[in-house]
Amino acid sequence: MFCVECGKEDPIFKNGVCASCYVKSTIFTQGPQVISLTVCPKCGGHKFRNLWHDDSLDDTILREIKNQYTVLPELNQVSYSLTCDPVDIQFECVVTISGMVVGHSVVESHHVQIRTTKVVCDVCSKQFGGYYEGILQIRATDRKLSEEELSLIDDQITHFVSSERMKGNRALFISDVAEEHGGLDYYLSERGMAYGFAKKLKSRFGGELKQSSSLVGMKEGREVTRVTVVLRLPSYRVGDFIGFQKHFYQVKQISGSKVLLVKLATWKEETFLEKDLEKIIVYPYDTYFQSMIVVSQSPTELQVMHPESYATYDLKKPKPLDIQSETISVVRLHEILFLVPEKKEREKGD
Ligand SMILES: [Zn+2]
Ligand SMILES: [Zn+2]
Repeated sequence: MFCVECGKEDPIFKNGVCASCYVKSTIFTQGPQVISLTVCPKCGGHKFRNLWHDDSLDDTILREIKNQYTVLPELNQVSYSLTCDPVDIQFECVVTISGMVVGHSVVESHHVQIRTTKVVCDVCSKQFGGYYEGILQIRATDRKLSEEELSLIDDQITHFVSSERMKGNRALFISDVAEEHGGLDYYLSERGMAYGFAKKLKSRFGGELKQSSSLVGMKEGREVTRVTVVLRLPSYRVGDFIGFQKHFYQVKQISGSKVLLVKLATWKEETFLEKDLEKIIVYPYDTYFQSMIVVSQSPTELQVMHPESYATYDLKKPKPLDIQSETISVVRLHEILFLVPEKKEREKGD
């Protein structure tokens, strides 16, 4: 068979012509020259088929092009590339669609103008309306949260929210944050997240969780409730000293429901369940910690001097130690001096 176009004796591809002639005379891709996009001016989200997305503008434009352009079925291995230039608040784009037709490559480019319309998205309008379903309250037992704890917890929650949003939960947001009673209140758009975040914080900081819910109204025949989750952190923090069952300890680690303590008299470590640490006395590190000058030492004892009052004290070594440093950390609890195992190691951010 001869191709009716070029006359060569090539296999006929379609309509009496060879593949080479068919590729030359065919437009494989077609679509509109103007595409409208709806963009949220608050969060930059885009609407596609009535749903809002957080994808990049390029991804959104490509998705629209794939949706609105027609590609002939003979074109295989189709790929798209896009370059866009902003013009005023619109975009002038060139989309290049390429593919293969029985061994012949096809590359077609189209100019597309992207016209954007600004509409505040569903999530942003909820957020600016102060919408919330759950309150997460962080408190500490018998004390206020320190500045360090407040910023650490705030970092964690911001991180939780952004990682949930990255996973595609764009309906999640913090509606408001309030510092209340020495703690923090987070107003969250999703009630389930209040408990989820509290559990994550508990695994790191310890504490007790309580949840309650209240009915706030009816919507389409269903009860609408709001939950309040309270995470009550322990009265002590890592580094603090505590008196418990006639012994003094330093808190070395808190994780979930367990607390690792170091007995100050022997430096032996013991693990307790947080709930079993009842009737304890807390001696905050910052108030009780004291730096002393080493005067002399024997294998079992140490003589130290207060750097300002020059008063000297004797204390027992918790275990055989050769002290090399000029100053050491001690804590004085009920007239007894203890050597502090190591420098304060407050939890730092990730
Ligand atoms: Zn031909
Ligand atoms: Zn938005």
